[in-house]
Amino acid sequence: MQIISNINEIRKIVKKWQKNDETIGLVPTMGALHLGHESLVKKAKTQSSKVIVSIFVNPIQFAPNEDFEKYPRTLEKDSIICQDNNVDVIFAPNANEMYADKNNLTIIVPPKNYQNKLCGLSRNGHFDGVATVVAKLFNIIHPDKAFFGQKDAQQLAIIKKMVLDLNMPVEIVSCPIIRDENGLALSSRNSYLSAEQKIKALSLNKVLQKIKEMYEKNETNHEKVLKRASILLDEAFDMEYLEAYDANTLEKIEKLRNNTLIAIAAKIGNVRLIDNIIL
Ligand code: AMP
Repeated sequence: MQIISNINEIRKIVKKWQKNDETIGLVPTMGALHLGHESLVKKAKTQSSKVIVSIFVNPIQFAPNEDFEKYPRTLEKDSIICQDNNVDVIFAPNANEMYADKNNLTIIVPPKNYQNKLCGLSRNGHFDGVATVVAKLFNIIHPDKAFFGQKDAQQLAIIKKMVLDLNMPVEIVSCPIIRDENGLALSSRNSYLSAEQKIKALSLNKVLQKIKEMYEKNETNHEKVLKRASILLDEAFDMEYLEAYDANTLEKIEKLRNNTLIAIAAKIGNVRLIDNIIL
């Protein structure tokens, strides 16, 4: 397995593969890899003959008050995980390589209706940063398929929309949320949690499961359902949102129905966690 940090170099590798009719799967990540990322890699391996994992903590998707500096960077450990999963290449550029002219950047701006809700409200400019870096990775690597987790549901909807609107020749494959044995959605940010906070964090999934349970008993009034379930959130958390949207378009829904995205974000101390389910 090679670790490449240079754009020209990875392009050369990809060109060679394409000449040999290899199919290329890309798994974009910010590193600090866990079993959630690994599930994306495993899926990519079954659907592509070559797999590239990109590891890049993308500065332009972090607001000044967020955890860019603190974000865990564990390249050595990540490479072992990738190697164990037969990844062909890790692409790990630095910020100068990706943003040579960082004060004069062309930015991809996803539609307002996809941004003015959920994480878009508190994370100003976040999805511009995400869409821009993903578009850059697609242009550098030209993957046949790219693998994204349902864990970041708004991100997934935004990437799919970008690919559709900009006619990007790549198939987006969504992958289910991987949780620990207690139901906590895996996240690189879980490493910020104390043991006690980790237990309290289980309540996020409890809220979501309660909603699913009520829906399965034919309760479709979303306001009622969300309100009832929200009391299960541990009181150590500050709820940022608990909302329901169409999972593909992120449009408001009249009542709960199949393909409704129920998404939650809440903060404990300085740690902000997100989770979701699709009914
Ligand atoms: P990140 O490194 O946090 O930017 O995540 C990289 C990719 O891994 C994104 O597509 C995430 O949605 C996905 N991902 C992160 N956590 C999980 C998880 N627990 N289960 C499935 N996919 C995940």
